[in-house]
Amino acid sequence: MRPLARLDHRYLWHPFTQMRDWLKREPIVIVEGEGAVLRDARGREYLDANSSIWTNLHGHNHPRINAAIERQLKKIAHSSALGLANEPASLLAAKLIEAANPSKGRNPARRASSNPRKAGAQPSETSLSKVFFSDDGSTAMEVALKLAYEFARRSGRSRKPRFLSLDGAYHGDTLGAVALGHIDLFHQAYSGLLFKTDRVMAPYCYRCPFNRAKPERADAREYRQCNWECLGKVERKFATQQKKGKPYSAFVVEPLIQGAAGMIPQPIGWLRRAAEIARGHGAQIIADEVMTGFGRTGAEEVVEQVSKKRTRPPSASLFACHREGVQPDFMALAKGLTGGYLPMGATLTTQEVFDAFLGEYEEFKTFFHGHSFTANQLGAAAALANLEILESPGSVHARSQLEQTLAEELSCLWTLPKVGDIRQVGLVVGVELVKDWRTRQPFALREQAGIRVCDAMARRGVLTRPIGNVVVLMPPYCATAAQVRRMVKTLHGAIIQTLGK
Ligand code: PMP
Repeated sequence: MRPLARLDHRYLWHPFTQMRDWLKREPIVIVEGEGAVLRDARGREYLDANSSIWTNLHGHNHPRINAAIERQLKKIAHSSALGLANEPASLLAAKLIEAANPSKGRNPARRASSNPRKAGAQPSETSLSKVFFSDDGSTAMEVALKLAYEFARRSGRSRKPRFLSLDGAYHGDTLGAVALGHIDLFHQAYSGLLFKTDRVMAPYCYRCPFNRAKPERADAREYRQCNWECLGKVERKFATQQKKGKPYSAFVVEPLIQGAAGMIPQPIGWLRRAAEIARGHGAQIIADEVMTGFGRTGAEEVVEQVSKKRTRPPSASLFACHREGVQPDFMALAKGLTGGYLPMGATLTTQEVFDAFLGEYEEFKTFFHGHSFTANQLGAAAALANLEILESPGSVHARSQLEQTLAEELSCLWTLPKVGDIRQVGLVVGVELVKDWRTRQPFALREQAGIRVCDAMARRGVLTRPIGNVVVLMPPYCATAAQVRRMVKTLHGAIIQTLGK
């Protein structure tokens, strides 16, 4: 075993990893990366097929992001945001607010007021206008949660604010974020440490008990037969709670696709309607765009399936919620914020929320929350470069090409009987492995079907990580057509080799 691998085995504890299995074999030690390629200590090359756990956007070692960090490094790496402002954080906050409020003329995302008295009224002109920086996705969600909680209390909407999130929700690993999560495998063990939140059925068309359609060789969202029972459940949940006199303060959602739940996309129109229901009951909306933000879910505005025609010009928004015309009260960002270079989180919110924390010093309305590295300059400099690249016509074009290439390449997987569902939203793909596509019978977790397939892919030079039986493909935006083809072909071969035809 190489010395670095030995050190890892001796001292490290890896996240979401059964360390007994980890210690059985030599780990891949990454030493370099360029574009979509990672290189290990033995000089072997791999394609980074999950963008280093959904963080990287434009590839590794990107000259513009490197240069931005180097420029900033020559000035200062970090000074505290507790009591001090700094240059890149101010510039970045302005840019994020601009990006989170697409231009008014064609913006479908104007947010309806969360005030119950105004619910159902014409969308107001209020928008996301303040940025609170933190360290990662979990802390960005903690901030959203605390702000929403305290805002509900201070505005007199609720003395004991309650939150509703989705089955399969994952919003991070700090305790507030875990309380909002509903993946029993990850979260159950800590239930004694958590406050109670409610859960409601999330759309999962492929395994939906209300979907009467027989399995087909297509994304289940397209051939499903149902009456939107999932939305009925959301409606009933809000109505029941309202009747009890304890309305939900906020509805927490990953817009368009739930990541850690198994890359589970929402059918077109679900998000828009679920948001309307929440608003109609006076709840605020917390959009967790930690995975979906910064162009991950594609560039084009989603079109209502019923009308089958585009009713508005494509939206250039970088955020998933805007693709269904939803403007949240809180937007949590991380992962791709710095192009996947450095840990940084941001929570965007409205002037209304901000104002609820204003007062005389001795009123102690201050938001008593912060992290040592809040608004870190190196992270902010990387994020500014990231946004510049994202907005460049070259990147917009490349992303739309990549989305199409992915769709075309993925179609070959439908020939495999062990592939039950292929779910693509923009540049995110989940491939659900099953015992037989005709029955949708799942592999038991202990069979490790996803892990074995990903191990076989790694041996063939393509790195990704499964979520249970779902293999994730999420290429960096710089991936070439040939690289995408290789990722999919490798997955194809690994499925046959591991699970048979
Ligand atoms: N929210 C979502 C939707 C996520 O996917 C993740 C991480 N996978 C998080 C929050 C937590 O982010 P982090 O790991 O940066 O704390």
